[in-house]
Amino acid sequence: MANIKDVVKAQEGDVFDIELEKDVLDANRKLAQENRILLKKHGIKAIDIMGAIGAGKTSLITRLVEHLKDRYRIAAFKGDLTTTIDAEMIGHHNVEVVAINTGKECHLDANLIKKALQRLNLDSINLLFIENVGNLICPAEFPLGSEKRMVVISVTEGPYMVVKHPFIFMEANVVAINKIDLARAMAVDVKELEADVKRINPKAEVVATNCRTGNGIQEVVEALGL
Ligand code: MG
Repeated sequence: MANIKDVVKAQEGDVFDIELEKDVLDANRKLAQENRILLKKHGIKAIDIMGAIGAGKTSLITRLVEHLKDRYRIAAFKGDLTTTIDAEMIGHHNVEVVAINTGKECHLDANLIKKALQRLNLDSINLLFIENVGNLICPAEFPLGSEKRMVVISVTEGPYMVVKHPFIFMEANVVAINKIDLARAMAVDVKELEADVKRINPKAEVVATNCRTGNGIQEVVEALGL
């Protein structure tokens, strides 16, 4: 605590954030379970991909689509506040994409996924990638009903990226550390980031990737059990 006079710690009920009230989280969890049952009934594996803006979520999805399009019938949901830029980018790869605009919300929720699922013919697909809104805090609290949750981080986010956002890593089955080609320029040790993830969540599978070249994508496919 050098150079700091004090720390004000928000207590339960201190923060004016109505959306995070317990009943909202409970309602979301219930809807997520309904989504999970619906997806299972139609034999669809859904993967929720979370991470900051610019980490490489969209690039990872397009790489995964290239890798898997001969083995799976794929669709994608793309959450963003107001734009459809990423949704269109994924759509270039001949998969069905539903864009979800959240307005001011910083995360997708199970109700939005329920609505988006109504836009698809669920019998025509068996793999669904869900790109969450670029944010490392809010999406962690809102399960969507996906089979697996994945976090993409980039070395360009600096060396303290993982330790500063522990909650999202607790919820992750797989973590990709992306843009590893830039690690030296950023003075970031990929092994250290991996160790940070493992300290928070020993069960998470961690894969180093370069989504621009496709390095590590096969390992992500395996980590996701696809
Ligand atoms: Mg994106």
